[in-house]
Amino acid sequence: MSPTELFRQLTSAPAHRRALGRAITLVESTRPEDLGPAAELIALAEQYSPPKPTFRLGVSGTPGVGKSTFIETFGQELVRRGHRLAVLAIDPTSSLSGGSILGDKTRMELLTRLPEVYIRPSPNAGELGGVGPASRAAVLLCEAAGYDYIIVETVGVGQAEWQVHGMTDAFLLLAQPASGDDLQGIKRGILELADHLVVNKSDSLPKQSRLAAAELRRGLHLAPPRPDGWTVEVATASALTGAGVGEVADRMALYRDQQGAYIRQRRSEQRVMWLHEQLRRELLRRLSGYLAAAGLDNDQLRARLDEHITIPATAAVILADFQQNSTQ
Ligand code: GDP
Repeated sequence: MSPTELFRQLTSAPAHRRALGRAITLVESTRPEDLGPAAELIALAEQYSPPKPTFRLGVSGTPGVGKSTFIETFGQELVRRGHRLAVLAIDPTSSLSGGSILGDKTRMELLTRLPEVYIRPSPNAGELGGVGPASRAAVLLCEAAGYDYIIVETVGVGQAEWQVHGMTDAFLLLAQPASGDDLQGIKRGILELADHLVVNKSDSLPKQSRLAAAELRRGLHLAPPRPDGWTVEVATASALTGAGVGEVADRMALYRDQQGAYIRQRRSEQRVMWLHEQLRRELLRRLSGYLAAAGLDNDQLRARLDEHITIPATAAVILADFQQNSTQ
């Protein structure tokens, strides 16, 4: 099916889940023959204005903090409020282990059954580290398919929080109710990314939840003031009982109302970041192609370097030759 036809199906009302699934699979693909059609599809999605304004929320937290339980409860609240919800996952571990922390369990069972909800398990990182770009494209495709609230979920390890922050309007961090000097293992830099914090599991550990919330507030005071004037709050909630979950939805709705200009600016900066990512990816792809065509595999390169030709000198020669060949 041509990208144009796939996109037409995707945007036809009511939203066509199968077409959306196929479209996301296409943009996640690293097969050379899919790159052109995927780019065409992404271009269509970029130019498309969804009928309703959309909101993109990143959700992160350490494994076991209750992300999937929270999204299950929070998602149902969003549907009650009239949203159509898409949940996408970025799994930083899948490229390393071959398995997936996020994808392996049965997750969000009730949410999965709602017709207003689309859940997409995490993609595998392609050879060229395609998870980030593919997920950005997936967000656009979900919006084109009529989902107005997009949750991008990730495990709080490694660089994934930055990736998710770099593709969403707001970033929600879930924390554990345990108290300790280390702010529940949340690194300072990550704390500063959050637009809202929620200490989960307040039902089973109410006292520890309040202590953890107080500690996180102290941590936030050390952060530099926000340029957009938004006050980051720390709430307590229970994903299991639903206590405090509606308040999180309220807070996010307020953020959306008040921070419109900031969100527009954030999206605009994210588009530039995306362009950079795509450029890096494309250059790497071309460079790998050139190296293969020139017979410069690792053995060849090692032989050159072993002859005491320095790394910068060798790199410069290769790049000059690559440039000459690629401009012809
Ligand atoms: P994830 O790894 O962050 O996605 O965490 P899960 O959603 O899988 O939850 C990990 C465990 O914590 C599960 O056994 C959940 O039932 C439990 N859990 C999640 N939220 C709550 C909560 O609000 N209260 C309690 N008591 N347990 C919870």
